[in-house]
Formats: sequence, structure tokens, C-alpha cells
Amino acid sequence: MIPTDIVQYIHPLPAPNNLDVRLPDAWTWSHAKKGEYTCSSGYYWLLQQNRDWNVNCNMNWLWRLKVPAKLQHFIWLCFHNVFPINARRHHCNMVASPSCTRCSSPIEDILHCLRDCPHSRELWLHLNMRRYNNFFSEFYVKVWLHEITKGTSAILFITGVWHAWCWRNNTIFEDQHWRIQDVVRKTFLLHDECISYYPNLGLDSHSSRLLAHWIPPLESTLKINIDGSFLEDFGCLGAGGVFRNHDRDWIAGFSHYEAGGDALLAELRAIQTGLEFCSLKGYVNIICESDCLEAVDLIIDGRDHTLHTYATNILHIRDVLHGNGNTTLVHVLREQNMCADFMAKEVSHARCSGCWNCPPPGMESLILRDKLGT
Ligand SMILES: [Zn+2]
Repeated sequence: MIPTDIVQYIHPLPAPNNLDVRLPDAWTWSHAKKGEYTCSSGYYWLLQQNRDWNVNCNMNWLWRLKVPAKLQHFIWLCFHNVFPINARRHHCNMVASPSCTRCSSPIEDILHCLRDCPHSRELWLHLNMRRYNNFFSEFYVKVWLHEITKGTSAILFITGVWHAWCWRNNTIFEDQHWRIQDVVRKTFLLHDECISYYPNLGLDSHSSRLLAHWIPPLESTLKINIDGSFLEDFGCLGAGGVFRNHDRDWIAGFSHYEAGGDALLAELRAIQTGLEFCSLKGYVNIICESDCLEAVDLIIDGRDHTLHTYATNILHIRDVLHGNGNTTLVHVLREQNMCADFMAKEVSHARCSGCWNCPPPGMESLILRDKLGT
């Protein structure tokens, strides 16, 4: 017997049009045109049930990454915030407190665990991830993961996230604790393993770093390499730059020292000083190279940065850049910018400000390296 309420439910349902009487009664899966259940149609149906989900949300960026499946799966779990970190365990009444076991921060959420805990943060500083805008300030874990994996250091980032998690678990559950040097070494080892498994990976930070060298400009163009550095202990910044031509010959250099600032201001001041130096000398057709992605982006991204702490510097640099005849600002790897690095660190922090008509003492090997293109 069919229960009455079911009968009452079925009766008003209209019979399908054009239904061939020869067809038997059967169950069909209404979420696929073929009426047959498939894994993919079931998956999309499930996605539609979750209102937080955009059915068009596409994770292909993750599946396309040339890393082992375990790392892809790991990032997928991070992306969906399903790790048993203390905030989640507390929510499920599994632990008394949501605080971080390592640093006693009140809440160990996924971003705290992987990025903001002082231990994880130390790892990211060693991996030089601070060069990414918003790396430490991004609020949403999904945006954080997606944005950094779009960059040229995707593999290093993913292996870093993996080891931040492993390090956390090792610290909490094992007797023998890893040192930061161990974690950095393990991260690079796994990174290099990924690179060797996928030789056609294309540019990644580490592999490109091994190949990177300074490239001379085209004829009738000058190249200026620029760098800034900040000495936290002394509260002072240095800026330096080196001009060379298409024959790789030294044309001029500058060093600049001033009190105050921070790392970003040092980079901006370096760019500003370099461009002003070009104006002063009447140089045109300039390729200006900086290894600070954040500073370069701030200047050339065309966005309004009027609320930025260094908005004035940014605007001023943009003015000078547009005023200089045919000057282009580009980002390069640090390995392509070693002479400028020397000027910014060694020369500027000796409190030497000025113009150099020949390389200062101590940088002969760097100049030779760029001259030979190695
Ligand atoms: Zn912590």
C-alpha cells in the first residue's frame, strides 16, 4: 500500500508530454540530461546545494600545477579550510581552547597556522615571500593561496605551505623539533624534486634563479640597475644604482644614504634617486631594473595609491618616469641585480652618498660576472 500522503503528492503531478507508452516506469536522475547518474553530474549537484559555493568556481589552476598529487590535495584541503587546527577542533568540542599550541595566540585558524604564527612567518621570510604584495596582510585564505600560486614562485610557495603544516605538526606531536634551517632545507629539497620531476615546468623562482644573469641593453639604450636596502638596527636606508651600456661597460653609478624609512621606502627611494640621476645627466632611452616587485608594481600598475603610506613617493616617481625620455621600469630577479645590490648595501651603508665614475673597490668580481654573462 502506498501511504496516503504520497498518493496525494503524486496525483497532481502532470504526466510527461509525449511519453511513449512503451517506456517502463523507472528511476531517473533529473540533474543530468541523459537521466543517468554520473559522478560529474552528482558533483555539480552537490556544489549547487552549498550556498557558499559558486558553481562556476574553477579549481583548474590547482590541478594544472606541476606538483605531486599529495601537494595538490593538500592545497585543496587548505582552500576549503578543513584542517583540524585548534579553532576548528574547538568548534567541534574536541579541545578546550582554540589557541595556538606553539605561540599561545588566542586563535589558531588556518592563516595563523600556515602564515602568521611566528614560526611559519620565519619560514616565509627565509623564502623571501615578503616581496609579494599583501603576502602577510591578505585576510582570506582562498585569495592568499590563489594569488601566490599564480606567481612565478608557485612551486616554492606550495612546498613552503606544506612544510609550514608539517613543521607545526612536528612541533606539537614529536619530541625532536625541527630547526628553521631544517624546514628551509626540506622545502628547497621538495621544491627541487618537483622541478626535476617536471623538467618542462617553465620559469619558477628557483630554477630561473639558477639561470638568471644580467642582460645588457640594446645599442643606444642605457640600463640602470637599482636597489635599496634598509638596516633595521641602525634605522637607516641605502640606495644604489649602476649604469651600463650595450657593451656591458660601466657608465656611472650612484649611492645614497639617509636616516629613517623601511625596506619598501629604501626601494622606492632607490628608484626615485636613479631616475632623478638620469634627468640630471640628460640620459634618455633607459631601461631601469629593480628587483623589488612590490615597488615596481606600485609604480607601473596604474592604480590609484593615494591611501598608501608612500603615496607621495609613488606619485613623484611616476612624474619623473613620465618626464624622462623613453624610460621603462621593469622587475628583474635579484641575481640579475647584484651590482646594484652591492651599491645599496656595501657602499651606501658606509654612508657614502655620491656619483661613481668607476666601480667602487670590492665589486670587481660582480662587474666581471655581468661582463661575462655568467
Ligand atoms: Zn602560533
